[in-house]
Amino acid sequence: QEELLHRQDKLAAVGQLAAGVAHEIRNPLTSMKGYAEFLQLDEKDPERIEFLNIILDEIERVNNIVEDFMVLAKPKDVELEEKNLVSIIKNVVSLLEFEARKNHVCIHLDYDQDIIQIICDENRLKQVFLNIIKNGIEAMPSGGDLHVRMRIHENNIHISIQDTGVGIPKDKLNKLGDPFFTTKKNGNGLGLMVSFKIIENHNGKVFVESKPNKGTTFNIFLPTRST
Ligand code: ADP
Ligand code: MG
Repeated sequence: QEELLHRQDKLAAVGQLAAGVAHEIRNPLTSMKGYAEFLQLDEKDPERIEFLNIILDEIERVNNIVEDFMVLAKPKDVELEEKNLVSIIKNVVSLLEFEARKNHVCIHLDYDQDIIQIICDENRLKQVFLNIIKNGIEAMPSGGDLHVRMRIHENNIHISIQDTGVGIPKDKLNKLGDPFFTTKKNGNGLGLMVSFKIIENHNGKVFVESKPNKGTTFNIFLPTRST
C-alpha cells in the first residue's frame, strides 16, 4: 500500500515536471511564431532587426532546454558499461571548447592517470559533465579559468569542476537542482536537476562549495563500480 502511494506520488511529480517543461518550450515557440508573423506582414518594418533578435533569442532558449535536458540522455537506453572516465571528460570538454573560447574561458584538465575505468552509462555521465561545465562557463561572463580534476580515492573517483565565477549566495545553495530554479535570463533550471538525478542513479554524491564573486566548485564522487 505504502509503496504504491509512493509510486503514485512519483508519477504525479513526473507529470508536473513534464507539464512544466512543455510550458517552458511552448512559451518561446508562441513568441517566435508571433514575431515571425509580424515580419511576414511587413518586410520594411523598422523593428525587423529587433524582432529577428527576439526570435534568435527564443530559439536559443529552446535549444538550451533540449541540450540540458535530453540531448545525450535518451530515456530508453540505460547502458552500464566499463568506460574510461578520462576519455568521457575529454570528449565533453571538446564539445564545449568553442563555447569556452567565445567566453574567454580557459579549461584546464588535471588527472594523474590516463585511464580511470568506471562502470557507467556513458551518455548520461556526459550529460552531467556537459551541464556542470557549461554552468561554470556561464558563471564567468568576463572570462576566467575552469579546472576539471580527476582523482581516485580507493573505490571512488573524485571529479571536481571549479570555476572562478560569480558564485552562489549561501541561501541559494539548497535550491540547486530544484526544477526550474534559475538565475539566468535565458536559463531553464533543468540542467542540475537532471545531473543530480543521474549522479544519484550511479550511486554517486555531489557537494557544492561556493563563495560569491570568488567561484564555485562542484565535487562529484562516483564509485568505480556503481552497481
Ligand atoms: P540554468 O543553467 O538553466 O540556469 P541549472 O540547473 O543548470 O539551470 O542551474 C541552476 C542555477 O544554479 C543557475 O541558474 C545558477 O544560478 C546556479 N548555478 C549553477 N552552477 C553555477 C556555477 N558554476 N556558478 C554560479 N551559479 C551556478
Ligand atoms: Mg545550466
